[in-house]
Amino acid sequence: MSDDRGATTQTWQQQLANFVNTIERLEQYVNLTDDERQILEQNKTTWGTTPYFASLMDADDPQCPIRKQVIPSSLEQQNTYGMDDYLMWKENRDTEEQRPDSIARQYKDRVAFTVTQTCGIYCRHCFRKELVVDGDLTFDFNVDDGLEWISQHPEVRDVLITGGDPLLLPDEKIAYLIERLRAIPHIQMIRFGSRVPIVLPQRITPELKNILGGNHKVPIWLNTQCNHPKELTEHTAQAVYDLMTCGVNVGNQAVLLKGINDDVETFRELHQKLLRVRIRPYYVFYCEAAPGIDHFRTPVEKGAELIRDALRGHTTGLAQPMYVVATNIGKIPLMPDYYIVDKDDEQYTLRNHKGQITHLPNIPE
Ligand SMILES: *Cc1c(COP(=O)(O)O)cnc(C)c1O
Ligand code: SF4
Repeated sequence: MSDDRGATTQTWQQQLANFVNTIERLEQYVNLTDDERQILEQNKTTWGTTPYFASLMDADDPQCPIRKQVIPSSLEQQNTYGMDDYLMWKENRDTEEQRPDSIARQYKDRVAFTVTQTCGIYCRHCFRKELVVDGDLTFDFNVDDGLEWISQHPEVRDVLITGGDPLLLPDEKIAYLIERLRAIPHIQMIRFGSRVPIVLPQRITPELKNILGGNHKVPIWLNTQCNHPKELTEHTAQAVYDLMTCGVNVGNQAVLLKGINDDVETFRELHQKLLRVRIRPYYVFYCEAAPGIDHFRTPVEKGAELIRDALRGHTTGLAQPMYVVATNIGKIPLMPDYYIVDKDDEQYTLRNHKGQITHLPNIPE
């Protein structure tokens, strides 16, 4: 399987038209195991990705970190720790405040605005699984209702456009959203959450650059999701460069995934490689308590241990994401907390990444 079957030469529209979501298409990229085939034949869930991202899968290794994010596993049918109705709980959709389905709110000054449930990969670990992968929930994604709600809430200054993947919308719809948001006087910044730079870098076209770009006083920030160094290619590097040169900053929100990125070497390489393609690590998320993803979850401490053992002090300070768990009451930092070893009236005792100790005077208030 040496050529990539047009995976990098196809336009983004062709990539979506040739979406790899049948056994037949998948078999152009990998030799399926019996287990994988059996699950796919039962076909209980939405799955699939672009030809481009599929071409990054290892043809023979079912443990390939990309393959495990794309191909459903029988383990998804087990659920010991996941919460029922997870998304309703997580996104505070059952509180008193009247909001359109598209608006999720946990903070005063910013909201998440869900504009589509289509994705360029149906991640097996997705916390919105009930919505985007299993299709158990039906939401109304009327964009105008969401815009209207935002315009009536002057305390909201930052809108995070999410999904699904908002950059899979047609250019006109993205342009409309940005134009309408920028016309609301209290909106100071717009953010996109999108895996497009990773799974469909061909989407960053000159036309899209025109829509997103420019030195506007309401800037656009983008956070993507890359979980393993193998996901970073020259195509992603080019897409990120294109976004940056038109004024869009690109950050990363990785998910801590057991067997994919929860070892020191992979975790460090991921964060170093992100910076090499100009993506700034922003968050690492603890894998949330959504149903059917127990097999991806580690103990909570794992992410803090990885930051301690792989990143902080060990490599470039820019390669330091904040480790958090996203909950119904907002994102809670879970960063390592062993740097302050001791404190008395005179001094603090501090520890570095090598276990060395130093002291700092304790100044009374
Ligand atoms: C994640 C999230 C945000 C943005 O949080 P930041 O920490 O500012 O990146 C805002 N609203 C909701 C509902 C979110 O889930
Ligand atoms: S791209 Fe995002 S919303 Fe879509 S399946 Fe993956 S994690 Fe979920």
